[in-house]
Amino acid sequence: MNATSYLCCIKNGFQFLFLLYFARVNYTLFIFYLQIFNFLITNSIDFIFSNVSLLFMKYLDFNEKEFSLELKEQSLLEIKNVCSQCKNCPLWENRTNIVFSDGKANAPVMLIGEAPGTDEDASGIPFVGKAGKLLSQMIQDAGISRENDLYICNTIKCRPPQNREPLTQEKEACSQYLEAQINIVRPKLIVLCGSTAVSSFLGKGFKISQIRGNKYILFNKIPATVIFHPSYLLRNHSEEFNSPRWLTKKDLAAIKSFISQLG
Ligand code: SF4
Repeated sequence: MNATSYLCCIKNGFQFLFLLYFARVNYTLFIFYLQIFNFLITNSIDFIFSNVSLLFMKYLDFNEKEFSLELKEQSLLEIKNVCSQCKNCPLWENRTNIVFSDGKANAPVMLIGEAPGTDEDASGIPFVGKAGKLLSQMIQDAGISRENDLYICNTIKCRPPQNREPLTQEKEACSQYLEAQINIVRPKLIVLCGSTAVSSFLGKGFKISQIRGNKYILFNKIPATVIFHPSYLLRNHSEEFNSPRWLTKKDLAAIKSFISQLG
């Protein structure tokens, strides 16, 4: 580690102690900082702290707690601020903005895409490019409100060069932010959008066409479902029976029905 890393480590150590004091108020933020702290020290200690994090999560049983909207927003803002300074993987070097999230912190559905593209990098908002606009239109057509029903984010927060697929190391380096987002938002349903999001949770080797439409139990007992990525739909214009667009409309209608049943 160089001098900058040591300073960063000390700074985060103080933040860690500060949050330890407030741990009884905001467990998720505490666990998040514990993970950030992990990242700055050696691998062996990292291993110990990772397991301590898991033990804390079990002991505190925060999974069952429902946080207020204000506390969720405040916690997400804290994490976004840390993320905006993040240099945990080489992608920080070319980013204009981190692309953290869009939508409500207490939305019933969390939609997870793969990585920011050029438009997202410029604006700092996920799914605003050509593909994002198509998805927004299809969401609206299905009667889902992007603003109120969805919390949208990506598996990684910085744009990969030439919009390439994120590398496994990059996804691993960034996973602490996504995990914290899921733990804070605690959606009733996760929608994995495209193969990168799917492989981050279910592993490689799954074809979207084979697994979409089903539900899987994911992260901390939250159900998840899978839809095609809108960039794939941009390359497939057909709306005929059983085409990717037709199937996505069907999947979005099922998501709308799920939201309506929540009341
Ligand atoms: S992609 Fe994630 S881990 Fe990599 S620099 Fe950006 S925020 Fe940090």
